[in-house]
Order: sequence, then C-alpha cells, then structure tokens
Amino acid sequence: MSHATGCANAPAITDPCSRCDVLLGLDAVQVEAVERDGRVMQVTVSTPWQLMGCPDCGVVAPSRGRRRRVLHDVPHGDTSVQIVWRQRRWRCPEAGCARGTFVEQVPALVPARGSLTCRAVTWALGQLRTQHATIAGLARQLGVGWWTLWRAVKPELQRLAGDPGRFTGVTCLGVDEHIWHHADTRQRGPKELTGMVDLTRDRDGRVRARLLDLVAGRSKKAYADWLVERGADFRAGVEVAALDPYGGYKSAIDDELAEATAVLDAFHVIKLGTQVVDEVRRRVQQDTTGHRGRKGDPLFGIQRLLRAGAENLTDRQLERLATAIEADQAHEEVYVAWRCAQDLRAAYRSKDTARGRDRAEKILESFHTCPIPEVARLGRTLRRWRQAFLAYFTTDRANNGGTEAINGIIELHRRLARGYHNFENYRLRMLLAAGGLTH
Ligand SMILES: [Zn+2]
Repeated sequence: MSHATGCANAPAITDPCSRCDVLLGLDAVQVEAVERDGRVMQVTVSTPWQLMGCPDCGVVAPSRGRRRRVLHDVPHGDTSVQIVWRQRRWRCPEAGCARGTFVEQVPALVPARGSLTCRAVTWALGQLRTQHATIAGLARQLGVGWWTLWRAVKPELQRLAGDPGRFTGVTCLGVDEHIWHHADTRQRGPKELTGMVDLTRDRDGRVRARLLDLVAGRSKKAYADWLVERGADFRAGVEVAALDPYGGYKSAIDDELAEATAVLDAFHVIKLGTQVVDEVRRRVQQDTTGHRGRKGDPLFGIQRLLRAGAENLTDRQLERLATAIEADQAHEEVYVAWRCAQDLRAAYRSKDTARGRDRAEKILESFHTCPIPEVARLGRTLRRWRQAFLAYFTTDRANNGGTEAINGIIELHRRLARGYHNFENYRLRMLLAAGGLTH
C-alpha cells in the first residue's frame, strides 16, 4: 500500500482534516487511515522509508517489516482515539553484533516504552493542573489503567519539580502546615506537612500564590532544612516571610532568613482576638448562671454577633448586643473584651497603614495591662510577636492569605483523589494542582 501524504487518498476517512493536520505537525509521521468504530477512532500512522544503520555497529540494516503498536491519544469529545503506529523494524546483519532486531523510535510521538502519546501526556497534565481532573478520571477517558497513566505522567512531574528555575524571583514567602493523612504514622510517616508558598506580588501588586514545596513534619527543622537546601541566593532574595503565630517557623525564619521581615498573618491575629471574646463570654456565662450557655441566656443569644466585625452589624443587632450586655453587670467584661477585639480589627482595617500602625502600637501598650486575664494574655502574645505583628503595616499589608488559599486547593484535590498513600506522589500532584510546577 502506498503511503498517503494527506487525507485525500487515505481510505475510510470519517473525520477528515482536524486530526491529520495535528498529526502531520510531527515531522515524518504520516496518516494512512482514519477509521471510526462506535466510540473509538483509530488513526493509522507510519513514517516513510529511510536508510537505517544499526545503532550499535552502524552497518546498514535490512527491513524486517513493521509491527502494529496501539497508542492512546487525546480523546475527541467522548470518542477515544487510538493511534495505530505501524512501527518499522530492522535487523542488524552483522554476525558479530549483539543487537539483533531493533525498532524505530519517534520520541515526539511517544516515549520509548510508553503506550500514551506525548500529546496525551501533555493533555493529561493540563487537565490535572487546570480542570481539577483526577488520574482515575483521565485514565478512564484515555482508555488505560490508573497505573499506566500515572507511570507516564510522574516522570514529567518529577522533571518539572526538579527544575531549580521554579524557585527564582521569590521575594515573599509564606509557610503553613496541614494534615495529609490520618493513617498509621509508622507506615505513612508524619501526618503533618509543612508547605512553602510563593506570595510574591506581580507587576500589578497582586499575589498569585504558588505552592513551592511540601516537606514532612511541622517543626523549625522542617522549614529551616528546606530553606538551607534552596541555597544562599534564594534566601537572600526573600524580603518578606509571612507566617501564622507558630514559634517553630519563626525561629527558622530568624536563623535562615535573617535579612527578611517576618510578618505575622493578619487573619490569625484577628482570630486570636475573636477567641478571646469567646473565652471571656464562656467564663462569664459559667460564673453568672452556673452552667454552659443555653437557649434563653442573654450571652448565648449574642455569641454569633460577638464574632462579627462591628462594622458589619445592623442597628438592630447592635441593639440586641447592648440589651444582652446590660442584662447583668458582670457582662461588662464581655463588652470590654469585644471592644478589644474590635480595636484589633480596626487597626488592620485602617485605610492608612501609618494610622493602622499607631493603633497597633496602642494595643501593644495597653492589652497586657488589662484586668481581664484573657485580654492580658493576648497582649503578652502580641508583645512577644511585636516586630512581626507591626510588620504588616510596613510591608504593604503582607499576609499569609495566599497560603490559606493554597491549603484550600490542596484539600480539594486530596478529596477528589480520595486520599493518597504515597508522600512523593502526593507532593507531585499538589505541586501541579497548586501552580508550583509552572512559573
Ligand atoms: Zn549491529
């Protein structure tokens, strides 16, 4: 049979040009036929005749015909596509040569021992990265098993993850931990992972958070070791290091990123304030009524209101708050704690960061002297974190919010995949899903 150079002379064409054009984009790969059978489309391809020498000894090798190799390609709508490659075979005629028969290789079409076309692997990576796809779902669409697809995808992820170029240009670095499994730690290692996130702003000043890495454990050592591994240039480039109030990560920053400004995450500080109000309310509730809050208790009725920002409350809600506080003189403490939490919010919400910093300074000077023990404790915590707390106002509101967003993506993908058994696979998948492999 003569080799068609286009669709025109190929038999049984059902979908003339879209596929051929793309396939013919590969030099020297010609489409012989396109056939459709139900929901499977088969595209038969081959390469033209060429003089071939033995890869070992170089002697010109006579052809041994071709063999059919079925490759799985990018599906076309709900039609799965198979590339039938009539792969050339040769035999080395040299008596002393150990090579024997050998087959042609077209690396741009398919890797040496792969059954998925390069194009299908690229497509799968794109689906995993941007469409919340799962390996199981894509494998089904490609008509292959889970392992076949993962074996094809994993080396590409490893290659991308190993590229040091993805760490360049990081000026703002976030860190946070999450739990990745609830299984036996003797089998699967630590449940906690430390995640490093690139929070560098783009030219428009927007943060495009990217997961840079995941390492086992939640400790100073986990973060510090990773920072050391990145090298001196990386560490020197980090100007701002955002973190949640966890001392272990703070001392890693102090040791390894001495030149960077550590910034305590605003969201977490506000949350500490809200927790103080909750604690005071529960304590006063217990002291005044002798039981935990229940329906009908004035303080129980306002527990949600107390957690909201004052600026979001309606007049009616403020009135309800006032009524509940006035119901008992002991409730005054709850009100004071609530005001303190609101002061903290107001510092962060100041339109002008210089004014916000002034408010934050006042908090640092007053909270720790408060007669309400919960507020005083928060005051002492903030004083311990003084520099990192104030740094928010001098770093153009640097925060760890992007890191929280990345944790949301991680959680979504962990659930979609119904959990992971292998840390390295988990790391690679999360790096891909959370933008760490593309710069
Ligand atoms: Zn040979």
